[in-house]
Amino acid sequence: MLLHDHLDGGLRPGTVIELAADTGYEGLPSTDEAALEAWFFEAADSGSLERYLETFAHTVGVMQTADALARVAAECAEDLALDGVVYAEVRYAPELHVGRDLSLPEVVEAVNAGFREGEQRAAAAGKPIRIGALLTAMRHAARSREIAELAVQYRDDGVVGFDIAGAEEGHPPTRHLDAFEYLQRENAHFTIHAGEGFGLPSIWQAIQWCGADRLGHGVRIIDDVTVEPSGEASLGRLAAYVRDTRIPLEMCPTSNVMTGAAKSIEDHPIGLLRSLSFRVTVNTDNRLMSRTSMTKEFSQLADAFGYDLSDFQWFTLNAMKSAFIPFDERLAMINDVIKPGYAALIGPVAP
Ligand SMILES: [Zn+2]
Repeated sequence: MLLHDHLDGGLRPGTVIELAADTGYEGLPSTDEAALEAWFFEAADSGSLERYLETFAHTVGVMQTADALARVAAECAEDLALDGVVYAEVRYAPELHVGRDLSLPEVVEAVNAGFREGEQRAAAAGKPIRIGALLTAMRHAARSREIAELAVQYRDDGVVGFDIAGAEEGHPPTRHLDAFEYLQRENAHFTIHAGEGFGLPSIWQAIQWCGADRLGHGVRIIDDVTVEPSGEASLGRLAAYVRDTRIPLEMCPTSNVMTGAAKSIEDHPIGLLRSLSFRVTVNTDNRLMSRTSMTKEFSQLADAFGYDLSDFQWFTLNAMKSAFIPFDERLAMINDVIKPGYAALIGPVAP
């Protein structure tokens, strides 16, 4: 289960090189696969969100044709399936892929075709996966209403929701209120990147002004939690609201450490938030830049917090409950796939 993964953050290094050659993209820092893979990780591991976002110039640069988008999407589905993921919501910003001659609907259709192809290949390999797309608008740009309309246009064709992303500081989500209000009128779902590079005001705006169903990261909600010397935790009004209303937190531990939103995996707020029963989910964010996978995220958490398979099941059920597909489909995934899968590993455990 995966709710927060960026299509342009999960390319295979070899694919970046081949697509650059195919599409005439110049300016890759290396055309050697291992060297390029290392470059992405090192450039992304600088501790600042702004620097981290720079690495995307190259991945987005090679994703400007329908064939390139479809290939990247198909490989994304295959790679996630191989990693043991059975359902993923993968996001991308259509407005970043219209640099040549693609229209916004052509971008969505190319990615959809790629996801369907990848699902078929994964199923044929005995690793079935379902992928839903989230359409992202960039928070510094002014196309959010248009992208929100695109998400609604394709809501019955592979697109399950909407998101805004990009540098938080100086770009409050309230700038995009008309997009969020439109989505609410359309009974559509959306998540907002908030509480990663910026603190509580960003989370408060995302929830109480914009009406976000989920929080992308939401790490800084910890600033509204006070741990007394006795070890008892007390929640401020915002943290209490987030927990009371079961707002899902799409946490991405490795990415959060790389952008400085958390000091280390051991210090990641996920430990405290999990023990306080927030609706915490575990995600990959950008598998290429963070050199990560769901397997790696879970195993790092196991090392840091002593989590075992029953904890992984808890995170996984949280994620499935928080997905943007219809309730009956979520329930079917929980009862037919996730619970039997974990039961086969650990025996039935009450969540
Ligand atoms: Zn993200």
